[in-house]
Amino acid sequence: MRLKQIKIKLAENNYKLTPQRTAILNVLLNNQSQHLTAEEVFVEARKEMPNIGIATVYRTLDKLASMDILYKAMFDKDKYRYELSDYGNNQHLHVICLGCNRIIEFDDEVLNHLEAELESEGYKIVDREIKIFGYCPACNKLDK
Ligand SMILES: [Zn+2]
Ligand SMILES: [Zn+2]
Repeated sequence: MRLKQIKIKLAENNYKLTPQRTAILNVLLNNQSQHLTAEEVFVEARKEMPNIGIATVYRTLDKLASMDILYKAMFDKDKYRYELSDYGNNQHLHVICLGCNRIIEFDDEVLNHLEAELESEGYKIVDREIKIFGYCPACNKLDK
């Protein structure tokens, strides 16, 4: 999601970007293609804003996710991870390696087609959560 789209969403929701919230958003902007936990965002945000509290990080991340600015998903047990949402653009699939816990992204044409097809049939899609679990090529090799 581009900064311009983010600003539009923030304005639509009357959400003011305080310096703390900006620091949090910057962490996500600077780590695109990463999937960060709230704790990881907290560690990074503190570099820019040393007095930021973890509660602010949790609250802000959830708020941004509820505005569709962030995509929030659980990839491993009981830990949410956050990334910038790509809603409206190409969707990507997540493949989670059970060996090294890496989260690999794949651009997905099939998913885009499927959604377009559903929408043409009159469905309104509001969310998606497709995860594939397995072993990445490196871990798969180790296993043999
Ligand atoms: Zn792996
Ligand atoms: Zn992702």
